[in-house]
Amino acid sequence: NGDVVAIIGRANVGKSTLFNRIVQKRLAIVDDIPGVTRDRIYARVEWSGKSFYLVDTGGFPNDDEPLLDAVGRQIARAIEEANVIILVIDGREGILPQDEKIAEILRKSNRKVIVAVNKVDEPMHEHLIYDAYKLGFEDVVGVSAEHNRNISNLLDIVVAHV
Ligand code: GDP
Ligand code: MG
Repeated sequence: NGDVVAIIGRANVGKSTLFNRIVQKRLAIVDDIPGVTRDRIYARVEWSGKSFYLVDTGGFPNDDEPLLDAVGRQIARAIEEANVIILVIDGREGILPQDEKIAEILRKSNRKVIVAVNKVDEPMHEHLIYDAYKLGFEDVVGVSAEHNRNISNLLDIVVAHV
């Protein structure tokens, strides 16, 4: 089907790494999805007999735009086009004010939000996820995009909502 799943979060949390990890080997790059914007990277992902379009929303701020505005614009667009949002947090840095700001906007959006606490590279780092529950979302999963940890759990949660 045509559900769109957007990866959002502040800079350097690992959005693009996660996108590439999920898309790896399941990729058919999409260049024409009706009704969605073109200046971002989309890929069609199949998992557990379901499929969705995954979008990496970050990384295209205008140079003349303050960072927070760029992130705000990114979020507005993600909310507009996505059915499900993966909010990526950096588990090593913890929850920063900008994460809380993004979460606050998302809570009002009525979209399904899954919190992916990234950079949980080893089981012994699993405690890094607990801080993320204070953002107020039900689904919180610790992952390591770089080390391919728990990505299948994350995808299981995603496809339950597409
Ligand atoms: P983005 O700005 O949110 O798209 O973040 P990137 O995907 O560009 O990643 C930012 C930095 O975090 C890079 O140096 C990545 O190598 C690193 N990174 C991404 N995922 C992980 C992870 O699971 N574990 C660790 N330790 N580093 C990661
Ligand atoms: Mg990026």
